[in-house]
Amino acid sequence: MPELPEVETVRRTLEARVLGRRVAAVRMARPDVVYELDEGGRGPARRATTAKRKQALLEGQRVGRITRHGKQLAILTPDGQGVCIHLGMSGSLCVVETGKPGNDGKPNQTSQPSKADHVHVAWDLGGGREVWFRDPRRFGGLWTFNQEAQLHETRWGRLGPDGLVITPKQLHAGLSRTQRALKAALLDQHLVAGLGNIYVDELLYATKLHPRKLASEITKVESGRLVRAMRRILGRAIEAGGSTLRDYVDAAGQAGGFQTQHRVYGRGGEPCRGCGKPLGTTVIAGRTTTACEGCQLGATLTGER
Ligand SMILES: [Zn+2]
Repeated sequence: MPELPEVETVRRTLEARVLGRRVAAVRMARPDVVYELDEGGRGPARRATTAKRKQALLEGQRVGRITRHGKQLAILTPDGQGVCIHLGMSGSLCVVETGKPGNDGKPNQTSQPSKADHVHVAWDLGGGREVWFRDPRRFGGLWTFNQEAQLHETRWGRLGPDGLVITPKQLHAGLSRTQRALKAALLDQHLVAGLGNIYVDELLYATKLHPRKLASEITKVESGRLVRAMRRILGRAIEAGGSTLRDYVDAAGQAGGFQTQHRVYGRGGEPCRGCGKPLGTTVIAGRTTTACEGCQLGATLTGER
């Protein structure tokens, strides 16, 4: 699942290609992935007519801004109308040049989506350029809104502060309120938005904190260390274009490079780069967790919590 660095990379690569462009037409292959925030955002927008839905998906509008909070993106017009995009497990946003002949004179391979491409919504920006929302497993979706305030009231305002801007005080306050393991608390998007399994494991290793340590036992000093390491790791991951494990690519179709810099994630059983002991794995909050018993103190991996 794309986490903050991957979604930020998509935001940047998308912005570079679509900012200021007008949406000439919208195609919807799966209207049931589109939700309307002014209807509460709870179910697919079944009541709206196709023309209304296309309007809500910015048909005829210009792209003014692309913003991000945690793992979610929003494409906004200059007036604040917009579409919030959650990529879920397998979603992607890809800019493609359709029907444009390649060097050999034939249309390039991405000229038209087939059913197997799982392109649920396509924005035609004119001049042969399109943005495709693909999501084979359909855990993601699109949420349309008329005003930016709706996005904050019904979705983003319910999340914790973004991982790049959360303050030590905010993090400490959130952690001190929960009796969960530190790993579980940091995965909670209501506490801090943007972290998933990769970056929580990397963060805990970098700060030498044990994933099973009680979140409420984290001190103010440790919260400060967590915030500094979070910004550093997320920043480096963004510079590297995110982590590609299976199929993540940015809006230009490029894979990320940060996976080669992972210290613990996906390295269970391999030697710790700090102390040489084999890295241990366990399951916390339903997620495979990798940590070093030698370097990360405060609990044991085989605990109950
Ligand atoms: Zn170690």
